[in-house]
Order: sequence, then structure tokens, then C-alpha cells
Amino acid sequence: MVAQVIDGKAFAAKVRAQVADQVAKLKEENGITPGLAVVLVGEDPASQVYVRSKGKQTVEVGMNSYEHKLDVDTSEEDLLALIDKLNKDPAVHGILVQLPLPKHLNEDLVINSIDPAKDVDGFHISNVGLLGTGQKSMVPCTPLGCLMMLRDYHGSLSGMDAVVIGRSNIVGKPMAQLLLGDSCTVTIAHSRTKDLPDVVRRADIVVAAVGRPEMVPGDWIKEGATVIDVGINRIERDGKNKLVGDVDYARAAERAGAITPVPGGVGPMTIACLLANTLTACCRANGLPEPEGLTA
Ligand code: NDP
Repeated sequence: MVAQVIDGKAFAAKVRAQVADQVAKLKEENGITPGLAVVLVGEDPASQVYVRSKGKQTVEVGMNSYEHKLDVDTSEEDLLALIDKLNKDPAVHGILVQLPLPKHLNEDLVINSIDPAKDVDGFHISNVGLLGTGQKSMVPCTPLGCLMMLRDYHGSLSGMDAVVIGRSNIVGKPMAQLLLGDSCTVTIAHSRTKDLPDVVRRADIVVAAVGRPEMVPGDWIKEGATVIDVGINRIERDGKNKLVGDVDYARAAERAGAITPVPGGVGPMTIACLLANTLTACCRANGLPEPEGLTA
């Protein structure tokens, strides 16, 4: 079997086009422009790249982008004061604080100071609880993107055996909750899991979110399974820098029914889902129907 490639780049473009359409309608029919505020503390190079990219794509879909760049030694008090201001600003529908924060800032405290209705990253404890109890919430962007691709490929996921490798708060755990919400039988694997190869071999859906280059060999993949590779790992191969996922793509693609590549799979979906979440937050804030197909 040769796997169908799930093209995250093309899918993300489709999601962005859908968002742009809805944003245009909101402006025309309701006179509302969704706004996303991104807060960056410090000068971490990777974070700067992400924030730039988020700002650019926000503007491209017709939304307002508000960037707040703060010094690396910004006090917690000042950061909380800015978030309070953004919470109260009716032009801001989504707030994202770029992580990681410098060490002297308490990440949990900062994230939980964001109005849950504007928490477009879905990391606020209220949104975590709502998702865990199957209620309407803001859903973390990366797992939401994975879910959209899985639904698009399979239609219904009901009854499928899914394994999520990784149990982080930003990817693994919410991913497992979403799959459970779509009636999969879900196993969450992690570094202490016994016999991981056996767990993976039984799965119809494998979501790898570990951060270890190509740790899932192709022969762990069940024939016809769907593989979603969240991992982004920079390695050097044949004297060149390369991005690879957590799955040995070439070997896994010989057995899988469908697979996401790295790069060009889950990655592009994350920002597309951030824009989708901002649109959803804006619709909810204004008592308007939520955009179809862009939420969990
Ligand atoms: P974390 O480091 O927070 O979590 C990694 C998880 O992998 C942990 O639960 C850990 O288990 C588990 N793990 C580590 N080693 C093993 C092992 N040998 N076998 C099984 N499980 C193992 O990572 P994140 O969830 O933040 O990110 C995971 C990957 O996804 C990274 O490569 C990251 O760059 C990428 N990523 C990609 C995004 C995108 O937009 N495409 C967005 C976010 C992340 P334990 O808990 O027991 O330590």
C-alpha cells in the first residue's frame, strides 16, 4: 500500500479562504472586523518568526492584527495589566501570549488571566475543563488542525482505535479529548508506556506528538492506518539541515493508508486554526452563529 499524502499546506489554504470569506461577510453584514492581539515578551528568534507569521496571516484574511512586543525583563505586573486591557477591549476578540515566556514570568498565571472567551490558544484552565467535559470551548490550534484533517479524510471517526503518542497540555491531552469526543477508542502513550510498538500496531489512527526525530519506525504502523505527525525536529543529514517528524515518513508511507508529511502537514494547519478560533470567538462575542466546519 502507498499512503495518500494529507496535504496540510493545501488544507490550511482552504481553511484560510473559508475564514476570509466569513470575515468579509461579517464586515459587510454586521460592520464587525475580528481582531487578534498577539503578545510577545523578549526576543526568542523562533517566537519572533511565529509572531510575524501570525500577524501576516491575520491581516491576509482581513482581520485586525495587534502586536504587542515587550522587553524581555517586563514585570509580571505590567504583562498582566496589558492582558487586562486587552480583555476589556471590544476590538480584540482573540488574545495569544506567545510561549515560552521568560523564566521570571509565571506561565500558568499569565495564561489564566486571559478572558477564556478570548483565549484563542485554548490553554486557559476553563477551556481545558470545558473541552474535557465535552462542552463548547476554545480548542488548542494544533490538535484542532489534526482533527479537521482526520474528519476530512475519514468522515466519521466513530469506533476507530486511536493512539496519541505524547501527553503534553498543548497537543497530546487535548488531541486525545477531541478524538474521544468523536467517539474513537483512545490510548494516550508517553515515555513510560510499556510496549509502545504493540500499542501503535493496533491503532487505526496514530497521532505522534513527541519531539523525537523519526522515533516511530514504519513497521509499527498497521496496514492502512492514518498517521498524523505533529513532531517538528531539526536534524542534520548528509551535511544539510532538515526538518523531520516523529515518524519515519518514507517507511510509514509504505504501510499507512494516509499520512501527513513534515514539513507541510500539521504545521501550516496550526496558524489556520488560530485564525478560525479568532473568527469563532468574534462570532460568539457578538451572538452570531459560529462558522461551520471551523470548530470542534
Ligand atoms: P512535549 O515535550 O511537551 O511532550 C512530549 C511528549 O512526548 C511527552 O508527553 C513525553 O512523555 C512523550 N515522549 C517523550 N519521549 C517518548 C518516548 N520515547 N516514547 C513515548 N513518548 C515519549 O512536546 P509537545 O507536545 O509540546 O510537542 C511535541 C512535538 O510536536 C514537538 O516536536 C513540537 O515541536 C511539535 N509541535 C508542533 C506543532 C505544530 O504546529 N506542528 C505545535 C506544537 C508542537 P512524558 O510525558 O512521559 O515525558
